[in-house]
This record gives sequence, structure tokens and C-alpha cells, in this order.
Amino acid sequence: MLLIPFAYSKALGRYVCPDEVDQGLKCECICTECGKALIAKQGETLRWHFAHQSDSGCGGEGMVHKLAKECLKESVTKFMRFPHDKERDPDSKYTLAKIESVKIEVWMQRANRRVDAGVLFGIYEKESDLWTLVTHFKAVIEICVTNPKDKSYISDMSNYSIPVLEMRLNQEEILRRAINQLSKSADPVKSSMKIHLLNAWKSSCKKEWIIRNGLPSLFRNCI
Ligand SMILES: [Zn+2]
Repeated sequence: MLLIPFAYSKALGRYVCPDEVDQGLKCECICTECGKALIAKQGETLRWHFAHQSDSGCGGEGMVHKLAKECLKESVTKFMRFPHDKERDPDSKYTLAKIESVKIEVWMQRANRRVDAGVLFGIYEKESDLWTLVTHFKAVIEICVTNPKDKSYISDMSNYSIPVLEMRLNQEEILRRAINQLSKSADPVKSSMKIHLLNAWKSSCKKEWIIRNGLPSLFRNCI
């Protein structure tokens, strides 16, 4: 099981790293997935983390997942960069897509599946120093904390002409960046998560179009 990197601080009213709270139960943090109290573990062997008090059956993954969706929702008007496949496009360009709207937890009737987010993207291209809107498209975004989507998901969702982007979080990296920002940001965990989700180059959040149906041709070389 992964170590829980963040927790929700009732006192501060935001998500926190284990480095910014008192040890043990004095951290006054909860897991937003199961609602139970968490303890901050600041030992010498493992990296600092949070844990449930007893064997609660909750691994805290749902909380990280929830935080990522929340951050995605707050990223409307922001741009996501999609790097091009270096082999097919040696110049290594990228396509910019603006997040125009985000709906969390969307029920997809025909696939009989609930997806993490339905996103409307606007694609922009650079023409003589100006970024101009070229087209819009809808996509599904799935946030992956531990388990990538399997074949049955892909076959259920292939009935739609909607592309699906899977974003694989790197919790270590999000935590590391949040700790670096402790003195600079009012909400270091959230701002680190947002950077992780949006910036394809500086972050190692692996993004992959697991279904490319309905993806605009501008994305032919995007990975
Ligand atoms: Zn929990």
C-alpha cells in the first residue's frame, strides 16, 4: 500500500503535507475519503506520511484521487500542454489545449460507467506570436492513482466518439514539490497538484490517450 502523502487539516481548512503539522493525532487531520482521523508519522526510516489510526480498510487513495479532481475543476481557463511524439515529430512541438469547462463524475450511459471528468478543450495554435483558437473537442479524463484502466473499460468506452486521457499521478513528486513550496504558497499541496496535472514538461504526470476516437487531427502526433 502506498504511503498517504497528504491529509485534510481541519484547523487550516486545506490539504497539508506531513511536514507542516504536529506529529501523531495532534496533526488534527482527516481522510476526506472515509472521514476518519489520520495520524502524522514523522519517523526516521520512511518518508513522512499520514496513516489511518487502525486497520480501517481505507488506503487513502480515494482522497488523493478526490484532490486531483478538485484541482482539475479549479483549472478551468488554464492550458494543458500535449507534447508530440519525438519519433514521429523530431522537432518536438506541442499542442496547447485550454480547459474550457470541467464536469466531475459524469455518468456515461451507453458504457454503463462513471468517469472522473468530462472536459471541454479549446485547441490553440500559434500564428505570428498570437495563440488563436482553432477548434473545440470533448474528452474524458481519468485520474490514475494506482490502477490504470483495463481492457474492459476501454471496450466499454469505445462505443463513444470521445477520446479518453488517462493521467497517472506521481504522488512522490507532488509531495516533493509541495514541500518545496511550503513558505511560498498559501496552499502548497493544491498548487503542486495543479502544476503536476497541467504542465507536461516539468512534471512526470504521465498522460496517455487510451482512447483516441474523436481526437482532433492536430493531436495525431501527440502522446
Ligand atoms: Zn480514509
